[in-house]
Amino acid sequence: MPIDATLPYDDSNIFARILRGEIPSKKVYEDEFALAFHDISPAAPIHILVIPKGPYVSWDDFSARGADAEIAGFVRAIGKVARDNGLVAPGYRLLANTGGHGGQEVPHLHVHLFGGRALGPMLAR
Ligand code: 5GP
Repeated sequence: MPIDATLPYDDSNIFARILRGEIPSKKVYEDEFALAFHDISPAAPIHILVIPKGPYVSWDDFSARGADAEIAGFVRAIGKVARDNGLVAPGYRLLANTGGHGGQEVPHLHVHLFGGRALGPMLAR
């Protein structure tokens, strides 16, 4: 069920619990600003989620409230995960679902990083 991305951040969400170590995840990368882990239900041979460590619901929330260092750190982390997982040469796709029309299910900003095969058209028609 998609979330309402206009609601304030709710720190009981599943990714907040992963960040607090209450729920396990298959970690790919971590630094001061970001955590990356494998999606529990992969939609491609490589399907990694990258999340900022701060309490942000969506990209627009993060861009409005995030500190410059957090934003830079998060964006750099996404690029590093792509490079470190060999995705640059074959290519890959980033996706950030937001709110109802975006189909966002977890109310903590996350960027999906897909790769490992040709990913087809951008959106289902
Ligand atoms: P959204 O639809 O919000 O963009 O995507 C949420 C993603 O989180 C889905 O691809 C889903 O498979 C993944 N996910 C949901 N719960 C968990 C979990 O507990 N652990 C991991 N690693 N991924 C999860």
